[in-house]
Amino acid sequence: MNAQPNSPDTFDVERVRADFPVLTRTVHGKPLVYFDNANTSQKPASVIDAVDDYYRRHNANVSRSVHQLGDEATAAYEGARDALARFIHAPSRDEVVLTTGTTQSSNLVAYSFLLPRLKPGDSVLTTQMEHHANIVPWQLVAQRSGATVKAAPINERGELIVEKYIELLTPEVKLACLGHVSNVLGTVNPVREIARECRKRGIPLFVDGSQSAPHRPIDVQALGCDFYAVTGHKMLAPTGTGLLWAKKQYLEEMPPFFGGGDMIREVRFSGTTFADVPHKFEAGTPNIAGFAGVAAAVDYYDQLGWDAIRAHEQALLEHATALLREVPGLRIFGEAAEKEPVISFLIDGAQATDLATLLDLEGVAVRSGHHCAHPLMHFFGVPATLRASLAFYNTHAEVEAFVAALCKVRKLLR
Ligand code: PLP
Repeated sequence: MNAQPNSPDTFDVERVRADFPVLTRTVHGKPLVYFDNANTSQKPASVIDAVDDYYRRHNANVSRSVHQLGDEATAAYEGARDALARFIHAPSRDEVVLTTGTTQSSNLVAYSFLLPRLKPGDSVLTTQMEHHANIVPWQLVAQRSGATVKAAPINERGELIVEKYIELLTPEVKLACLGHVSNVLGTVNPVREIARECRKRGIPLFVDGSQSAPHRPIDVQALGCDFYAVTGHKMLAPTGTGLLWAKKQYLEEMPPFFGGGDMIREVRFSGTTFADVPHKFEAGTPNIAGFAGVAAAVDYYDQLGWDAIRAHEQALLEHATALLREVPGLRIFGEAAEKEPVISFLIDGAQATDLATLLDLEGVAVRSGHHCAHPLMHFFGVPATLRASLAFYNTHAEVEAFVAALCKVRKLLR
């Protein structure tokens, strides 16, 4: 890779693809077309090497040992915190809690921040388009406290009805929640505007950044939210890594959620005191090798450059959308004005899973199902969709191969 970020003009997708070993393989004798990136991204060699190097040369536990390997393990882990703080423009590395992913991050907010604040009659506001990780944790703590979870509506294009969301920001709302980008529709939500309205009303805002972090630069300070969650495996990094960013004031107030080693200052049977933030939320041995990979993933994005990534991905989205629109009987779900490269669709007379299974035989990996978004499927009145989700290492030739394969397999189902 270049030391300098690419510009859209110098972006060379073939060169980028050479960094991703898995992209050279075949599936059922066909070249792999990997369009399941919203599910999990592929990993560049630098990330794989960072994990490999960690286990070959440095493996030890963090924050416990005074020996050289222990120092190196701690440096790898804490280095990832620095890299992620930079990646999301956090004002302080101490505001970055390392987690196993967005699911752990939202549950941490639910149990540690929200539950102690909820009383009967209170509510949590989320939206109709959210992933279950941005619904179910709130329901679990609401059930314990006699509170409710309400959902802001969306329109037929798959856009949040912003005025309705704002109308629902009533005084009994103790937490407002919003996905930055929908994992099913690709819709980009107006986080800044919502954050501004939340601030006016003194309501903290939790943002699920799982599907935004792989596609656009994140600046939590500019967004103006209070909590931001990211999952590593969708942004080139290993599984079981992620973060919760929260304003320090909240992290200081929040009690620990997981108890055990590494999160304490002093343990007595008469009472235990806890480590400073963020460590008081990081009990037990973390995924150290995974976080070594996270730092390499952040480096990879830095070197590639967001302008080049965005220009290429938006061109792919436009191309794929245009070709899919020409397929007879195909309906696209999600036609928001601002989208990331995620396209959900169905074809008349064909089951999503049958199409996905036949596409796999053509070497094309897409996802079929409810995408962990039952309320959204209910809104559209369908049990499932097919979803093609693209990344910067995908090509226009792959878009064409995918649509050709779709047209071929669709005929088999008639
Ligand atoms: N939120 C969104 C929008 C997602 O797409 C996903 C993963 O599919 C998650 C949350 C959950 O992420 P994880 O399972 O990595 O915690």
